[in-house]
Amino acid sequence: MVDTVSSLGSIPYQHDAWGVDVTVAASQKGLMLPPGLSFNAVSAKAIAAGKEAKLPRSYWDWGAMIKANGDGSFPYTPATNLLYALDEALAMLEEEGMDNVFARHDRLAEATRRAAAGWGLELQCLEPKEYSSVLTAVRLPDGHDADRLRKLILDRFDLSLGTGLGKLAGTVFRIGHLGDLNDLTLATTLCGVEMGLGLAGVPHQTGGVNAALRYLAETA
Ligand SMILES: *Cc1c(COP(=O)(O)O)cnc(C)c1O
Repeated sequence: MVDTVSSLGSIPYQHDAWGVDVTVAASQKGLMLPPGLSFNAVSAKAIAAGKEAKLPRSYWDWGAMIKANGDGSFPYTPATNLLYALDEALAMLEEEGMDNVFARHDRLAEATRRAAAGWGLELQCLEPKEYSSVLTAVRLPDGHDADRLRKLILDRFDLSLGTGLGKLAGTVFRIGHLGDLNDLTLATTLCGVEMGLGLAGVPHQTGGVNAALRYLAETA
């Protein structure tokens, strides 16, 4: 079972070729839509297992959806406007070409990491092989609260950064760089972070935005 909520449409993923049984996805990340739709890709093996499962369920049951989908309909009132939006989002992705979409995510992610290095801040991910092209978690120096920084940046610049989850709460902030994003929107985000670091009194170097812009220019 694979959660592709942020990876679908952002980085390569192959449900069938990789032999995955259940893939869960949603509309609000790489597919560039508002939240409200979610998608399951389900293997024959998973469908068979679902039929045998004894746990009571209604909303979570695939049966009704599979049955209605067979003739192109929907067992409940569909989110029609989101389905029109999905149609357009898929057309946009196809027009750009998935290889180009993935390359765009890789490039904006690398620019973000260069910004973090320019600020002299550590990435949460220390293993380059594991870097994510959908988001980057940046650590604050000990004794500095990442949620305080996030709040200041939200209040001052209306820029919403991701919080640290679980045991990372307060120690990292996350920059999402996926979906409908380009050089300029990423640069704006990085400027907001750099200004926020200054206003919050977090020790850092000011070269982050410059390092990112240099990389974007070199790879334009
Ligand atoms: C954003 C995200 C979620 C949260 O999705 P919801 O629709 O809010 O449940 C779950 N998993 C991953 C990998 C995500 O990136």
